[in-house]
Amino acid sequence: MLAVIGGTGVYRLVEQGEERETMIINTPYGESPQITRLVLDDSELFFMPRHHAGHDNPPHRINYRANLCALKQLGVKRILATNAVGSLDEKLEPGTFLVPDDFLDFTHHRPVTFYDQRTVHVDFTQPYCPQLRKVILESGEAVDGGVYVCVEGPRFETPAEIRMFRQLGGTVVGMTGLPEAVLARELSMCYASVCMISNYAASIQDKVTIDEVFQIMDGKKKELTDLLIESIHKTPQNSDCHCEQALQGAEIE
Ligand SMILES: [Zn+2]
Repeated sequence: MLAVIGGTGVYRLVEQGEERETMIINTPYGESPQITRLVLDDSELFFMPRHHAGHDNPPHRINYRANLCALKQLGVKRILATNAVGSLDEKLEPGTFLVPDDFLDFTHHRPVTFYDQRTVHVDFTQPYCPQLRKVILESGEAVDGGVYVCVEGPRFETPAEIRMFRQLGGTVVGMTGLPEAVLARELSMCYASVCMISNYAASIQDKVTIDEVFQIMDGKKKELTDLLIESIHKTPQNSDCHCEQALQGAEIE
């Protein structure tokens, strides 16, 4: 089963399919947001709004462990996520979609693992599922690869931080991609992200306002939804990646 974790702006995915049921899942980490099970043509999937519907939950307050644990409990094996990001590269304009292939994690107040009682070191040589990345890239126009820098937020970045991220090889910067990608791997689920560039990062443009972020995203909602739908249709039944074996050889016994 596949799930979409939708950031801001992709709630219309649900309207494109046939809604079967909605549910809130209880997990050892707390409650999930309201999840919708829907059918899109022949594909059945779950949709989870990352921030809860209505965007009342800022990035640093999202209960990432409850979200991922709920999807695991529902039998989800693959996750397509969307993330709004700022561009660190003048050549990557607002409105561009990008499928990252690596990340830098600069969050510092979020629970980052399911394994607090056991010592588990999960491999991240391939930070995102290669098969799902390929599916997304074959489903529409998106930049192949880039380094997603995740910051704690909720404020935007300073010019010095942006200079540092660029020097470290960052391509885009956002607040919601981590630890989500890590937690998915820890539960042996495939995970890939479509990043929508909504603005240039601080100091590359004069000032970042939330109005302009939403304006760009509004204009791109349909395109993003279409890219997700095509990706859902193109996802093969069988996986050819190693995400499902993520815990093999990862634990100190
Ligand atoms: Zn995979």
